[in-house]
Amino acid sequence: MADKSRNITQRWMINNIGMIFLVLAAVVLAGTILLRSFYYNSAKQYLSSKMNMVSSILQNSYNDPSTSFSSEVRSVVENWSDRDHSELMIINSQGNAELTSSGFIPNVEDNMEDYRKALEGSSGYYTGKISSGEKIMAMSILLPENNAGYSAVRVVSSMKRIDSRIMISTLAVIAICIAILAMTFFSGMYFVKSIVLPVRQIGATARRYAEGDFSVRIKKKNNDEIGELCDIINHMAEELANSENMKNEFISSVSHELRTPLTAIKGWSETIAGMPEDADTVSKGMRVIGAETERLSQMVEELLDFSRMQNGRFSLNKATMDVLAELGDAVLIYAERAKRDGITVNYDEPDMLPFIYGDRNRIRQVFINIIDNAIKYSDKGGIVSIQALMPDALHVEIDVSDNGCGISQQDLPKIKTKFYKANYTRRGSGIGLAVADEIVTMHGGTLDVLSEQGVGTIVKIIFPIQKNS
Ligand code: ADP
Repeated sequence: MADKSRNITQRWMINNIGMIFLVLAAVVLAGTILLRSFYYNSAKQYLSSKMNMVSSILQNSYNDPSTSFSSEVRSVVENWSDRDHSELMIINSQGNAELTSSGFIPNVEDNMEDYRKALEGSSGYYTGKISSGEKIMAMSILLPENNAGYSAVRVVSSMKRIDSRIMISTLAVIAICIAILAMTFFSGMYFVKSIVLPVRQIGATARRYAEGDFSVRIKKKNNDEIGELCDIINHMAEELANSENMKNEFISSVSHELRTPLTAIKGWSETIAGMPEDADTVSKGMRVIGAETERLSQMVEELLDFSRMQNGRFSLNKATMDVLAELGDAVLIYAERAKRDGITVNYDEPDMLPFIYGDRNRIRQVFINIIDNAIKYSDKGGIVSIQALMPDALHVEIDVSDNGCGISQQDLPKIKTKFYKANYTRRGSGIGLAVADEIVTMHGGTLDVLSEQGVGTIVKIIFPIQKNS
């Protein structure tokens, strides 16, 4: 379990945090590149505007014979107003700086790539390091030839300030990204924990259910999906506990059911063995043994049907059939027993009903089951009424009503559930109605039970009639 929680956390870390980290890294990288190009372009524009200004002053002076070009050059350098940001240089024909606005002549080895480029005829622009290691941006423009030995004018600006500004902005963005990442991490960890811990608790509880202990329940903390899962699992535990109880009750009631006829068979067979020449006893005993054996085999059939239904191996042998014929047979089978129990069975058989498409043996089995219940749950003097009718043009309906003990309102919704017995005073396995309901449903019909405790019960079975019937 601990391994699994680590897995969820790890997966979350890799998927979410990893993804956010990559996105933020890309944002920082792209932001830095954009910022750098913005600052460098602005600096270049600034330098080239300065350069244009100087070059137009010098060009005018060169074209004006009344002024001295060389003194104009000196005056421009001396009066260079942008000393704070850049340095103006005049390069002589040997390619060395001759005049500078700062007064310092730079190192001869200093890289004057821009000047070299200007000499080659391309844009006299350069960004890079000089011998001192300082990064500069420089621009050179060649002066008209045949002047006082000056070759070019050059503006140089240090990139130190711009680079540190870019660095500060980048660090600020990185700090914001780290804060976002940390916030996402902690809020995500809290969220993952709020899922992992309850899931671990659910797993531990489910394991106890698997071991057969249904007494524990999961405490629901929030009304979210996990809370809903807790409710579902608690409900499942209740259902499992119920079905476990039902199973135990089923086993005990089936054992009881089997024991009664077996005791009768054993008793009568011993009696017959003891007095084989007493014809009356033998014939009575054989009748009882026959009836009890029939009851046992019915029960075993019912159990087998039930087991086939559970395995999905329950099949129907459908054909066009007359419901009235099967209902008539079922009533006949029970007429004798009802009379013996002092119960009146009223059946007004209609002349005819449309045919249905179904398995006649199974449908007879349903009728037998329902009539058996009606008699079983009625007391002496009770009346069981059976009716067959057409509620509409497309269906046939069979109603079996009795004025027996009835079913309480709280038991009524559960009586069609397998193993459910609402009344333990009568014999029965609790699966008769479940089997009957399944058979009716497999015929596209419905089986409804209406009942009131102490008043009686009506079972309504409706089948669709066969098309063209
Ligand atoms: P059982 O074998 O116990 O009769 P069933 O599945 O046939 O099982 O019926 C389930 C429960 O429904 C019964 O235990 C009984 O409590 C109730 N029941 C069914 N039919 C009737 C009825 N006609 N009158 C009263 N209770 C009934």
